[in-house]
Amino acid sequence: MDEPVKRIRGVRDILPEETHLWRFVEWIVHAVMSTYGYQEIRTPAFELTDLFVRGVGLETDIVNKEMYTFTDKGGKSLTLKPELTAPVVRAYIQNHLDREAPITRLYYFDDLYRQERPQKGRLRQFSQFGVEAIGSPHPEQDVEVIALAYDLCSLFEPQGLTLRLNSIGSPEMRGEYLERLREVFQPYAADLDQLDRQRLKNNPLRLFDSKNPETQAILDQHAPLISDHISSEDREHYEEVQASLRALGIPFEHDPKMVRGLDYYTRTTFEITSGKLGAQDALCGGGRYDDLVKQLGGPDIPAVGFAAGVERLLLVAGERLQEKVTPRQLDVYLVVLAEEARAPALARAQELRAAGYTVILETLRRSAKAQLREANRSGARAALILGEDEVKKGTCMVKRMDTGEQEEVALEQLAEKLDGILHPKPETD
Ligand code: AMP
Repeated sequence: MDEPVKRIRGVRDILPEETHLWRFVEWIVHAVMSTYGYQEIRTPAFELTDLFVRGVGLETDIVNKEMYTFTDKGGKSLTLKPELTAPVVRAYIQNHLDREAPITRLYYFDDLYRQERPQKGRLRQFSQFGVEAIGSPHPEQDVEVIALAYDLCSLFEPQGLTLRLNSIGSPEMRGEYLERLREVFQPYAADLDQLDRQRLKNNPLRLFDSKNPETQAILDQHAPLISDHISSEDREHYEEVQASLRALGIPFEHDPKMVRGLDYYTRTTFEITSGKLGAQDALCGGGRYDDLVKQLGGPDIPAVGFAAGVERLLLVAGERLQEKVTPRQLDVYLVVLAEEARAPALARAQELRAAGYTVILETLRRSAKAQLREANRSGARAALILGEDEVKKGTCMVKRMDTGEQEEVALEQLAEKLDGILHPKPETD
């Protein structure tokens, strides 16, 4: 026999036992987003590679090592989207959404692709939901986005979340800070690995993303903190964000080392982690990116957003959701006992579905016993049994699967009978 073709590493099949949980998460996300006034946007699966190089930054892990890039027949370099902010901003600019309103609140629920080393909680295709609020430079906009992220994550994981917050200031101040960082690292430059040497040369802020313990030790012991090198306006902004979060009762920690792995952030950055996740503990990350719209060729409009990973949320909340969220139960299993009953059974199934019932019809032509066993296994609440006799008389047998009671019912009375089984009236005394 031929070898079956296997799934590649780092991607998943989401099987029926789990898809109902995904639909539940999607439903919650759509509902909560709309309570905050955010509107859904959907962008293409691939974009010009240049969008991510310009938007995310050449020295980032995503662009440097993780993109699925290919050349199409026209010779263009295209990339499967590894993140959503750059595509959403591209769509915002290209569709002139800035002309429609002074502020645009967008959200997405989408699949991303990154060629990372797969491990628990780290996949090569995964899903994120997130928002981009484009238009306001003020701290209350940061707070709205952080509160929304925290709200959504808490719905799935009410305990054990940590919100970490930092400000990396505006780019005008960053030059001076990066110079200081370079000075600190210069004496150790020869000892750094190749990637960190490249980071030191091109974008020292990215040294914070290094997985090399020696680089992290130098950062811990010698590096100045970026939040100590921000302007007084940046500091005021950051203080207002923190004060508002306190007023809302959203707990957070200031984490001066959190810079986040993307180049476009300015001022506020934040991350929500869960103690339940192990090494890959980030559920959600975001921040302000005041220059990206302009950098991508749009108007000079500030923005702030976040992205949360759905697989990780399900890792954290999966068991609880499995208990609470059950797939819709099957109403009717249609048992077909004779050749003459096949066409009428198909018609009955269609009528019942049109009336809103969930119906499975036997298509394997099994024995009566096997069909009733299947009706039982399927979890249906009623079996409708159609044989030669019933077809002749214009009736069908209705069997309640919970009690095993069986009764012959005229087709005209079928809907009423089923209703009695599926939606029993509460007893009154
Ligand atoms: P990022 O876009 O890297 O800031 O990631 C935002 C969120 O997406 C993270 O906090 C994770 O929950 C999730 N995420 C990022 N990368 C992966 C991955 N490779 N596999 C699964 N989830 C991921």
